Amino acid sequence: MRTAVDRCPGVLRVHDAVDGGLVRVRVPGGYLTGAQLAALADASASWGDGNLDLTSRGNVQLRGLRPGTTDQLAVALVDAGLLPSVTHDTSRNVVASPLRDLHAEVAEIDAGIQSMDPLPGRFLIGVGGPDVLTVRPDLAVVDGRLVVDGRDGGPGAVPELLEAAQHFLDLRRSEWRVRELTWDRPLGEAVPVGVPPALGRHDTRVVALPPLGRLTSAMLRQLAVGPVQLTPWRTVVVPDSTELTGLVTDPASPWVGVSACAGVACAKALRDVRSDAVAALAPGVRPLHWSGCDRQCGLPAGAESRVATADGYA
Ligand code: SF4
Repeated sequence: MRTAVDRCPGVLRVHDAVDGGLVRVRVPGGYLTGAQLAALADASASWGDGNLDLTSRGNVQLRGLRPGTTDQLAVALVDAGLLPSVTHDTSRNVVASPLRDLHAEVAEIDAGIQSMDPLPGRFLIGVGGPDVLTVRPDLAVVDGRLVVDGRDGGPGAVPELLEAAQHFLDLRRSEWRVRELTWDRPLGEAVPVGVPPALGRHDTRVVALPPLGRLTSAMLRQLAVGPVQLTPWRTVVVPDSTELTGLVTDPASPWVGVSACAGVACAKALRDVRSDAVAALAPGVRPLHWSGCDRQCGLPAGAESRVATADGYA
């Protein structure tokens, strides 16, 4: 039984990190207009470290925020349409399959989430194809079926998903995830999990990877000209006309499958894992995750782990 509310960062719930304030901005479906991306880039340049970090749920984090700047940041995000509800700041976690235009479905889910009591910050919703099941959403609509914690819940679309989300809220006491409670409705077999789209060109769009999931200010200037979809695999989907200097589009790149925690921006880090990951980049086992301590934040499922210790790596 959980004894506390989740402490996921939000825009209004600022995490105090060693490099300054950290906020997480929910981006349902990962969909950002060029203007919204520009607003995020401006905010990070004005009050933070100038970068945006992608999260494993297709959201973004700004970090290195100076004291006293987070109120201005929140106002800027409200103005950009990135904080539509102060009560649902952390509960709008929706991933959508890339390369499908699911804006209408995501907008309907987002509106539905905001019309009910806030879901826990750890609760995740998916929509699209079986690739979204790789991130283990609590509830998903996958090709016309409702999926409940990875199992078939019968025919379904957005209304059935929202009804199931309300049912979770009715059932839960302090649980954060569906898997933590007894789902009292019949479920079928486990639904096969799909594969995320490969890097590179797909018709008129390109899937690109910023190394270690970090969009630098130079990358942001290139991307902010058009619509962008952030994915839970820390990639971005952009129109094929977009300038992509610094981003990886070759599926054979050694950057594919390499991730790292926040490193020296976290007080617990024993080593500068992000620099070490760059220095040690070479073909080899994937996925490969670098962690600054044995908490191994952000460790992808099935990844080999390099864990910093007092005298090297384990
Ligand atoms: S793995 Fe350790 S050092 Fe890295 S972010 Fe988590 S707590 Fe901090």
